[in-house]
Amino acid sequence: MVSLSNAFDVVVVGGGPGGSSTAALLGKQGKKVLLVDKAQFPRDKTCGDAVSGKSGNVLRELGLVDIVEKSPHEEVWGITFSSPKGTIVSVDFPSQYGHPQGYICRRFIYDNLLFQNAKRFAEVWERFRVTDIIRENGFVVGVKGKHLDTGKEEEVRAKIVVGADGATSVVATKLGLNLLLPEHHCGALRAYYSGISGLTQHIEIHFLDGLIPGYFWIFPLSNGEANVGVGMVTSDIRKRNVNLKQAMMDVIEKNPVFKERFKNAKMIGDIKGWNLPFGSYRRKAHGNGFLLVGDAASLIDPFSGEGIGNAMTSGSYAAKTIEKAFEKNDFCEVVLKEYEDSLWECIGSDLKTSHRLQRLGKNRFLLNWVLGKAARNKELRETISGMIANRESKTSLISPVFYLKLLFM
Ligand SMILES: Cc1cc2nc3c(=O)[nH]c(=O)nc-3n(C[C@H](O)[C@H](O)[C@H](O)COP(=O)(O)OP(=O)(O)OC[C@H]3O[C@@H](n4cnc5c(N)ncnc54)[C@H](O)[C@@H]3O)c2cc1C
Repeated sequence: MVSLSNAFDVVVVGGGPGGSSTAALLGKQGKKVLLVDKAQFPRDKTCGDAVSGKSGNVLRELGLVDIVEKSPHEEVWGITFSSPKGTIVSVDFPSQYGHPQGYICRRFIYDNLLFQNAKRFAEVWERFRVTDIIRENGFVVGVKGKHLDTGKEEEVRAKIVVGADGATSVVATKLGLNLLLPEHHCGALRAYYSGISGLTQHIEIHFLDGLIPGYFWIFPLSNGEANVGVGMVTSDIRKRNVNLKQAMMDVIEKNPVFKERFKNAKMIGDIKGWNLPFGSYRRKAHGNGFLLVGDAASLIDPFSGEGIGNAMTSGSYAAKTIEKAFEKNDFCEVVLKEYEDSLWECIGSDLKTSHRLQRLGKNRFLLNWVLGKAARNKELRETISGMIANRESKTSLISPVFYLKLLFM
């Protein structure tokens, strides 16, 4: 038996960083918001747990910086790379007013902080799985779903539906927008480890033979443990028939450097994998009565694999456009287009640069050469630090002039 519940101004499907940010910001505006998630929070999300400075702006908008900084996390003060040849380069990030450039915070903790905050401003249904959207006269006007504890099916009506339901988004799929494009999609795995030697407050990204064009990461956690993983573009996994799990275990068990560092290490729990839809392809993320945010809108950085910051940023832009739509009392595609235009104005050029960097990163010779130079040259290390910390434009990294200058460094 299907029951029809009250109508809301907005229904947000998915309570990850994208959905929880959207729901809280809309609720603060005074909108009647329903946030639904199929999970019971706190819940885990397979991830590297690296929360970069990009999330900082939205955390400030939400008033959550202090709360995150009081929760268990590791501060990130730099980055360590290694090249396929084994050259190691460590770059410190400058302190910004005493704050680090990012955190490593388990998603079990981080997402729960955002989700509990959203509860202050929105009605929340946990363990409610959305199964379909409701369409009338060419508009999305609500969602259908099931309460997982009772089996009760329910339809919810709203002026706007926000699809924030991640990489396998039901909302995007039902709208025919969730295309899996292997060139713009990545497969990745992660596992938690204790007992790895040589951990610092740097995140580690290692470009290793057998794994490029992907990389192997070690991200230190607050309790001496670390988040360890690998990721590779799906078209490359298929072309080269890579078994990612085997590739990760080969690095840990056979690579001389990591074999030594993992000598006393223990895996905690299992290796888990999930999908990353990249923002190197611009997915349509708005239409009559709906918006998509975060992974549902395919916004992950195609070089770093970072998606939390863009999920939260898209939530912030979505809330602003929705506010204007309510002022006009018009929820059509033309009005909601402003969301996508303003979002891409903000993150589009960075995504484009990262896509070109991803392609440059496939070149083993170039990786060895640039990282070899950086290991010997302080000025170059400082330039790279500035680019990663967003003090200097990352676009230099894709400019031929940058590489010409390197010849003389
Ligand atoms: C292995 C791996 C490592 C990564 N490492 C990093 C990293 O270090 N840093 C970084 O910034 N990004 C990283 N990412 C990407 C990052 O995890 C995502 O970009 C981010 O989680 C996107 O947030 P979101 O809110 O859009 O979606 P999600 O966090 O996926 O949240 C979606 C929510 O929707 C809910 N949901 C799904 N379907 C339904 C449904 N039908 N009904 C109701 N609810 C539903 C889910 O339960 C979930 O809570 C990594 C990804 C992977 C796979």
